[in-house]
Formats: sequence, structure tokens, C-alpha cells
Amino acid sequence: MNKKITVLPGDGIGPEIVAEAIKVLDRVAEKFDHSFDYTYVDIGGCSIDKFGTPITDEGMEKCKSADSVLLGAVGGPKWDTCPPAIRPEKALLAVRKELGLFANLRPTRLFPQLADASPLKKEIVGNGIDLLIVRELTGGVYFGERRTEEVNGELVATDIMPYSEHEIERIGRVAFETAMKRGKKLASVDKANVLDTSRLWRKTMHRLAEEYPEVEYSDILVDNTAMQLIKNPTQFDVLVTENMFGDILSDEASMLTGSIGMMPSASLSSGTLGMYEPIHGSAPDIAGMNIANPIGTILSAAMMLRYSFDMAAEADAIEAAVNAVLDEGCRTGDIMQEGMKKTSCSEMGDLVAERI
Ligand code: NAD
Repeated sequence: MNKKITVLPGDGIGPEIVAEAIKVLDRVAEKFDHSFDYTYVDIGGCSIDKFGTPITDEGMEKCKSADSVLLGAVGGPKWDTCPPAIRPEKALLAVRKELGLFANLRPTRLFPQLADASPLKKEIVGNGIDLLIVRELTGGVYFGERRTEEVNGELVATDIMPYSEHEIERIGRVAFETAMKRGKKLASVDKANVLDTSRLWRKTMHRLAEEYPEVEYSDILVDNTAMQLIKNPTQFDVLVTENMFGDILSDEASMLTGSIGMMPSASLSSGTLGMYEPIHGSAPDIAGMNIANPIGTILSAAMMLRYSFDMAAEADAIEAAVNAVLDEGCRTGDIMQEGMKKTSCSEMGDLVAERI
């Protein structure tokens, strides 16, 4: 199979970790007789420096015409003072919107080899954590109207959080369908005791739940979810929630696994086009040092094969290779434990590729 992949390395550690994922994809192509054509596009701060905009129209077209998009990360202190309209993150929001990427899948898995790296006690972690957060990605407060104005001599800022029924229904369907393929358990996270958007969210989810009688469905308030993720994370299988709650909860969940550097994500449209990226940022504090953990990006590439290209065996091969390398005791700095082999970013990519 031949697939066109648009690659957005971005800023900070982005280019380093993406290079390792490409190494692994090339090995998959060789082993399984596929060909992947890569088109590189600047995004974020590096694009602002070159073109004065976080992504060019031409770059956006290259994302739209690809079979799939692989992203590193954007941003850094250099661009923190840019005007809001050309901030690096603006490009991410634009790509999500233009490609119709409304569903963000964030698996949270504690690899048994890294159980000691979890901040949680062994008795809480049990036999490992394996949950999936389905986050709505193109609605809510991040996309609502915002303004700062002077009222009675002081500045007042307003961010509006709109949600329509169809937006809730389509993310709900992704969540129920995903739950059907996993443990058939779905918790919908909201703040229905306070927010109108959450009350509409809950009503819509209850209507969908009737169509999926096999799924054990429950509602849970977002504040309680934040507590339960620490107290008893193994109770969860799939969680579905709106954009901002999902942003915060998925970062909290990622910490249960020991390092944000391990966590992949997929952002899906209603078709097969998706964007795949690690959940962490551009880590400017370690950029250019060849010490970043590329596993989150490598596992994002595996999700790309599984969700966009329907290549389940190939995705399994990448995940098995990551497992094998962890079994061998190889660790980047963020997941380093006593007695293990300290491994650089590029060595980690080499090892995973070799094990495929
Ligand atoms: P961050 O995720 O970049 O870093 C947080 C901490 O985790 C840092 O100590 C960093 O060194 C470490 N870390 C992150 N990824 C790692 C990896 N792969 N291996 C080892 N350690 C890793 O978050 P931040 O510091 O809050 O943000 C830095 C920049 O990234 C900011 O400009 C922010 O806006 C941007 N950001 C971008 C994205 C994205 O591109 N999707 C997401 C979040 C933040």
C-alpha cells in the first residue's frame, strides 16, 4: 500500500522525536511491503519565523490532501509574546478545524515495566492502567467567542463555551463505538450541576446510550473524575468529555503512567484522515539535546497505521517493539530507573525500528 503522510515536526523537541517515528515507519514499510511518501511542512514558531504565520495556506492544503498527518509539537518561549492571532498554537487549532478533527483519542496505559515510575502506589495501580479518554476537539470554550473589554473602569474578559447537539452526538458515537471495541464501559464526564452545555451533553449521551445497551454507561462530574483518576483509575475503561475538561483530565491521566513522553494521541475526522501527535508540548528545556523520549510519537505513528490506514498488524508490530525495548531495560531520561540502560532519543528510535 502507498500512503501520503504530511509531516509537521514543529518546534523544540518536535523535529527530534518525529525523526524517530519516521525511522520506525520506514522499517514498517520495508518489513510489510508498503511505501510511505512524506511531505514536510513548517508549523508553529518555525513557520512564524519563516513566513510570519504559524501555518501557510499551502501548508494547510498539504495537510488536507494527505492520507494522514504526523505532528511533533509547537511553541516555545521565543513566541510567547506573539500577538494572539499568530501564536504557534493557533496553527494546531486551525488544522483541527480545517480537517474536521473533532474526536481526540488519548490512551493512557501504564506499561508494567514502568509501574515503579507511576506516582501511584502499587495497590492502586493493580495490574496496570489501561483507559482511553475521548475528548471533543473542535467545540466548546477553545472555539467560542472571546473578548476583553473595559467595564466600569476595569478590564473584563469573557470566553464563551458553546456546544450544539450534533457536535455532542458525533463525539458520543465515537465514544460508544470505541467502548464497544474495548471493555464496553463508558463514563461521560460533565459539570451538569452547573453548566447548560453539560446538561445538553448529558441529555444527548443518555439518548445515545439507549442505542448501545451492551455498553455499561455512567455519568460522572468532572471534579469527581479528577479525584477518581488518582484514587481508583482502574475502574475506568473509556471516558468521554468536552474539549477543555478533556485537555486537563488527559494530562492528569498521563501522569499516572510515569511520563508524558510515553503518551500518543489520535485526532480523527468523520473520514479516514487523522492527525497523530504525542500529547506533550515542545519541551524547550530539553530541545536539541537528543534526550527526549520519542515513544509517545512512535506510538502515535502506530495509531495512525491502525486508525487511518487500517494496518492493525503493522500497528501491533510497533507496540510489540516498544514493549520489547522496555523489557530490555532501555530508558530515556524521563523514565530512567536504577539499574536500567540510559538511552538517547535517537538510540530509542533505532532500537524500536530494529525490533520490528
Ligand atoms: P511540555 O509538555 O513541553 O513539557 C513539560 C515537561 O515535560 C518538561 O519538563 C519537558 O521537558 C517534559 N517533556 C515533555 N515531553 C517530553 C518527552 N518527549 N521526553 C522527555 N520529557 C518530556 O509542556 P510545557 O513546558 O508546558 O510547554 C512547552 C511549550 O509547548 C509551550 O510553548 C506550550 O505552549 C507548547 N505546547 C505544545 C503542545 C502541542 O504542540 N500539542 C502541547 C502542549 C504545550
